[in-house]
Amino acid sequence: MEGKIGCTQQEITELTGRIARGRIAPTAGDRDTKGAFPREAVELLGASGILGMILAAEHNGVGANRAAFAAMTAELSGACASTALVAVSHMVVEKAIESAATVAVADKWLARLATGRALGAFAVHEAGSGSNAGAIATKANREGNNYIVNGSKFFITSAGEADVYLVLVRTDPEKGPQGMSVLLIEKDTPGLSFGLPEDKMGLRGTSSREMFFDNCRVPLEHLIGAEGGGLQVIGQNLVGWGFFGAAGISAGIARQATRLAVDHARERKIAGLPIGAHQAVQTLLADMILQTEAAESLIASCAGRADGAPATAAINGIKAKLFASERAVEVADRAIQVMGGHGYCRDYTVERLFRDARGLMLHFKTSELLRQDLARWALDV
Ligand SMILES: Cc1cc2nc3c(=O)[nH]c(=O)nc-3n(C[C@H](O)[C@H](O)[C@H](O)COP(=O)(O)OP(=O)(O)OC[C@H]3O[C@@H](n4cnc5c(N)ncnc54)[C@H](O)[C@@H]3O)c2cc1C
Repeated sequence: MEGKIGCTQQEITELTGRIARGRIAPTAGDRDTKGAFPREAVELLGASGILGMILAAEHNGVGANRAAFAAMTAELSGACASTALVAVSHMVVEKAIESAATVAVADKWLARLATGRALGAFAVHEAGSGSNAGAIATKANREGNNYIVNGSKFFITSAGEADVYLVLVRTDPEKGPQGMSVLLIEKDTPGLSFGLPEDKMGLRGTSSREMFFDNCRVPLEHLIGAEGGGLQVIGQNLVGWGFFGAAGISAGIARQATRLAVDHARERKIAGLPIGAHQAVQTLLADMILQTEAAESLIASCAGRADGAPATAAINGIKAKLFASERAVEVADRAIQVMGGHGYCRDYTVERLFRDARGLMLHFKTSELLRQDLARWALDV
């Protein structure tokens, strides 16, 4: 046991860093090669209180803010971005339950989720809806005390591994965006099944699978938030919190790639000179340092604004996630350049960092659509 979580950002990042470096990093390469789910890492994070950190004290948390959340995910992703992504998906579910679930659902799941004795995942994306959540087709029709859910979800992190799923469904096909709702669906619900894990380029430990709902009977009390309020639940929890976790993952990848490239530039000698002595290599390193710090600074300032005025959390989350995810790809790419052919080989961590970073420009929402959101917010259209 590495210790229990404290309340300050520094205490949280120190504990996470200790666990990440000592217990999660040593097996990250192996999980990447095998596409193995980070079950043990999740249990460690749960036992130490890290998974519950953004919940209030009465729900086994420490009420950590978005800046601390992003800093925590950055510590994790420097060791294993797959573990960090599984943790972010899980924490989005906790937050949504805390803020909008019925007492029965919160009583049943919150303590277990906070301590890692149960795992959560969110399911918005569908093969047919792509980037457009407004185009989902999974239906939930009321029948007595239940919703009957039919449809499918695609590419869901932790699918098949998680115990509970926050699922965006269409409860009223006539109402467009106002006809969507979020349901909590338990893994052992009859009619719920999972596809095989996707064989992805990166983030290979995250078990991305399809989910199939065939007449799944879900109690009405499993509605999260109001019926028709699904997009608000997604906006407040997935965008308003999850995007900061995603941004932190990218920043952590960038910092780790920079660290590895600096070490390599010091150690690798050609004709007696370390490659770091060359100005061209120094330029690459300088850009990596600035890009990493720019991402960290933007995340911190967006998180501060979101914590100070929660109504701005979504737009600040969008800015942080968009900027950090692109910087991480650029930084990891430069790290490979600094390391030459070595950096292109599986034995060197930067090639995994590059593959993992790339997924964050797609997941949650693609860069193109985030730019669209940002410009529309500025234009007020
Ligand atoms: C590693 C990983 C984990 C994931 N985990 C989850 C999860 O846990 N839960 C979940 O719900 N989903 C998850 N997803 C799905 C993810 O949210 C989608 O991949 C993402 O929203 C993009 O959808 P798509 O892949 O269908 O791309 P598409 O929608 O097919 O987009 C393809 C391209 O077209 C562009 N495009 C599409 N529409 C527009 C438009 N209107 N204007 C301009 N450009 C456009 C996109 O930006 C992109 O470049 C995950 C994805 C990845 C990669």
